[in-house]
Formats: sequence, C-alpha cells, structure tokens
Amino acid sequence: MATIDRRATTLALAHALSAAERGLAVIPLSRTKLPALRSPHRDDPDPRPCHGECGRFGHGVYDASTEPLRIRELFAAAPWATGYGIACGLHPHHLIGVDLDTKSDTDSSAALRELALRHLFTIPDTVVVLTPSGGRHLWLSGPADVVVPNSASRLAPGIDIRGAGGYLVGPGSRTEHGVYGTAPGTSRLAPAPCPPELLRLLLPAHTSRARHPTSSAGERQGQGLVQFVLAAHEGQRNTRLFWAACRAYENGIGPRLTAPLVRAAVRTGLTEREARSTIASAARMTAPSTRHP
Ligand SMILES: [Zn+2]
Repeated sequence: MATIDRRATTLALAHALSAAERGLAVIPLSRTKLPALRSPHRDDPDPRPCHGECGRFGHGVYDASTEPLRIRELFAAAPWATGYGIACGLHPHHLIGVDLDTKSDTDSSAALRELALRHLFTIPDTVVVLTPSGGRHLWLSGPADVVVPNSASRLAPGIDIRGAGGYLVGPGSRTEHGVYGTAPGTSRLAPAPCPPELLRLLLPAHTSRARHPTSSAGERQGQGLVQFVLAAHEGQRNTRLFWAACRAYENGIGPRLTAPLVRAAVRTGLTEREARSTIASAARMTAPSTRHP
C-alpha cells in the first residue's frame, strides 16, 4: 500500500508546476517512477482502448497537461505521488529524451560520443538531468512534424530514447532510489534542437510493407488510432494525427483509415485541408525507401 509523504508530494507538485510553466506537460509519478494514477479500466473484463476519452484520470502519459488547474487535480487524486513525468513528443518542445544508462559495463556516454564522431554531429548544450543511479538524460527538442519512437538500446547499448508516448522523470522527483536533479548550469537552458544527423538515427528504418493484419485486428487497431486522434487537446492535434497516420501506414491500413482519421481530426478542430496534408506527409514518410545502401 502506498504511503503518503505530504512533503514529497508538495515538492513534486511545485516542480511539476514549474516544468509546466516552461511548456512541458506533466503527470504525477509514484516512487517506482510509474504513473501514480492507475487505469480506471483495469478491472473491465474487456477493456477497450481508451486514452482519456472517458474523462477520468489514469491514462498514463495521456493525462499529461501544462494547465496548472488540471495538474493540481491530478496530484490531488494521487496524494502518494513523489515525482512527476514529463511527456515527450508534445507541442511546443516535441521533447526527445536521450537516456544514457549506467547499467552493466556499457559506457553509454562513450557510445554517444562515438556515434557523434561517426555521424558528424555535436551534442548541443542542453538540459541534462542526473538520475540517482548515475545515469543522465539529455533533453532535446524535435521538429513538430516528426514522430520519434521510443527505443531501448537500439542506437547503441545503454542508450534509450524517449519519444512519442514516452515520458521522462522530471528533475526534483523523488523515487525509491533517490532524487533526480539537473546537472549544474543546465536547469535554465531550453531543450536544444536535436541535430538532424542524430534525428535521422532515431527514426525507424522503413519497415516492410509485407505485414497485412487480419481484417479484425486491423479494424481494432484502426479504431484505436481514431480514438487517439479524437482525444487530442489543442496543441497536440496535429502531432497526434501525424503519429496515428504513421502507424496506420506502417501497418498497411493507411489508405483505408484516411477518411476516418480526417473526420476525427476535423472534430478536434483541424481543417480538412490541414488534416489531409498531415496524413499525406505521414504517408510520404512511411513509404518504402527508394535509397540503396
Ligand atoms: Zn478511459
């Protein structure tokens, strides 16, 4: 059973509110670094995909907000929270977290330096968060029209990427292993733009088009993507639509899902023209590569 440490919760809320002031959408986290609020659908016999359309809290990163009132409500609902998570991939920073781990015997910082040398980019001055286990999180900002997926040790051993749908433990959070804090001199920096050469490495290699989901699996996935777009708050509408359209094209249901996605996007307030152009760029981006190695 979660114990309640009012002082830790108050501090976490204060840090979360100040992150939100800088345009970072936050959720309360428990001591285990997991979202503090559990899914309201956890006991449903046949849970339907919900990203908050039901109006309740407990949808993980989909609860994230920059509105002080909502953040206070989230923390009030989770008085055992001792930290906060920052949602990646959202407007205006389109945050990308480069998580340099210290697990095992891999030197992830050296691996990142080596990648930088090999691919001719430099790591910009940016916010660096120090983790209690000696790891580091570099905060970078991505372009608005690109969706960076989460990955674990795909770039190099010990380097995890937090992108769309992921979150970073915010500085000032207390976990069972200790407190997260910013590296000296970096707390006032804004997340620096991700170098284009690095960004290219973070995007998925063009996936094979061979996968054709069975029609009912495709149907369910399509509904999930439409719901994901419908649940967008202002400021995330285009990002969400783009993300959903990329997933649809990657899974071979893009053309079939275009009309439902456009209708959903128009309901969230985008114009039909904006929606169609976002979906078209998702289609372009996920098209099979014509480059040869
Ligand atoms: Zn729900």
